[in-house]
Amino acid sequence: METMLSERDDIATAKYGRMKNYVDGEFTDITADRTIPVISPLDGSWLADMPCSSPADLDAAVAAAQAALPAWSRMPIKERVQIFFRYKYLLEKNLQELAALISEENGKTYSEAVAEVEKCIELTEFATSLPQLIAGEVLEVSKGVECRTERTAVGVVASIVPFNFPAMVPNWTIPNALALGNCMIIKPSEKVPLSVGLIALLLQEAGLPDGVFNIVNGDSHMVQAICDHPGIEAVSFVGSTKVAKLVYQRATHQLKRCLALGGAKNHLLVLPDAQPEMTAQNVAASMSGCAGQRCMAASAMVAVGNVDAIIERICIEARLIVPGKNLGAVIDQAAKTRIEKYITEAEEQGAKILVDGRNYTVPGKEHGTYVGPTVIDHVRPYMAVATEEIFGPVISIIRVATLDEAIAIENASPYGNAASVFTQNGAFARYVIDRASAGMVGVNVGVPVPREPFSFGGWNESKFGVGDITGKSSIEFWTRLKKSTVKWNPEAGINWMS
Ligand code: NAD
Repeated sequence: METMLSERDDIATAKYGRMKNYVDGEFTDITADRTIPVISPLDGSWLADMPCSSPADLDAAVAAAQAALPAWSRMPIKERVQIFFRYKYLLEKNLQELAALISEENGKTYSEAVAEVEKCIELTEFATSLPQLIAGEVLEVSKGVECRTERTAVGVVASIVPFNFPAMVPNWTIPNALALGNCMIIKPSEKVPLSVGLIALLLQEAGLPDGVFNIVNGDSHMVQAICDHPGIEAVSFVGSTKVAKLVYQRATHQLKRCLALGGAKNHLLVLPDAQPEMTAQNVAASMSGCAGQRCMAASAMVAVGNVDAIIERICIEARLIVPGKNLGAVIDQAAKTRIEKYITEAEEQGAKILVDGRNYTVPGKEHGTYVGPTVIDHVRPYMAVATEEIFGPVISIIRVATLDEAIAIENASPYGNAASVFTQNGAFARYVIDRASAGMVGVNVGVPVPREPFSFGGWNESKFGVGDITGKSSIEFWTRLKKSTVKWNPEAGINWMS
């Protein structure tokens, strides 16, 4: 990528300059030995230089978080959430600016970026309800003896995030973890590090005390340093399964609690009685939204029996999705090459390309990295497009004769994020809900993301660790339970219960 930049003479400087970390309420210089250019997938423009932080930079962020922790964690939660009421208002007020930055660095369309910020707002709204959800319990367990439970913060925690949602995935962890009294170090994806900086400014304006939230920029080396750092108590990770495994193993080896969400291969089971128009629209939107770079995107469609009419409609819908108009770019040239290679291999193995998104260029944005929507039919279950995460706007159609065959294909996947069934028959829908090996199941829904307060998290190799990353389920991860037993009647005699 550096070579590509030096070969180009139309861009002289990065639009946002050299990036800084955010430590103890200030943007601080990074002591780096390497710098990674941040390139907009929309048009190849050079957005920033991201220096890779040194271990000393991480030490400084952890020290700031540790210093802020006592006052922050002891502040009553009803006071802490007042900051998140203000943060929610500031997200609303700055929605357009944040959405434009998300689109610029990630390549998704502006309207998809707006939806991403709206999701950040919903996540923050949930965090403001945490006082109602974490109220403890108290019971007189013996004469004059009370047992009480309280939720306390874990301490200094880390959040490591991927490129595909530069603001939403950070906000899966930031409002809940902080409202519950923790201080955080976040490591943004080196491909999209800009939006998190704007989020830091909004948190600061909302009144978050210095040191509670800190950003350390870097790549895989910084992830390793976070897993190993003795001052960090818990690590949350969202990214590919390969790295989720490494992070889960490394962080737990260092005796930290860890929740690591991985990749996905999501199956949509389409039955012959499915409502054709709605099904086609949902399948096309699910596989192409955010250019297929969603861990909840439809990737494989299992066609049960004769659903040819629905497949025809899916192709019509797919042709209405145009790169550079209502379809964004994929993250970089490596992603475009990888996605197109998957399509070509499937074609060589006998699959039929019904809609072909390869070799796409958007006029005027020749340095952008676009792949058009792609529909591949007659995919065999053993082909790579049927089993591997493609992470592009591609749907692989696998044809089977029975619903049990379709479920067997879904169950054989090592992943387990999402699965969905399209049918008008309630009994078939229940049959699939009971048997799908996925944490999030949909009926006639292309992207079955549970909305707050329901929690987000997959099964199998889509998630390592206990609990989910958002909603009520995240409370367990971000807190420790304190149990106190208190006696107020010293005159009472001692029995086995006191
Ligand atoms: P990635 O795994 O390449 O990177 C994620 C983070 O890990 C980044 O911060 C990166 O700097 C770091 N990293 C990369 N390689 C590393 C290594 N070898 N060692 C240590 N750290 C490393 O993921 P990505 O490409 O940024 O994001 C796409 C992936 O994330 C897809 O697989 C997608 O399914 C997944 N994802 C999953 C969910 C979910 O909820 N399960 C949500 C969003 C994205």
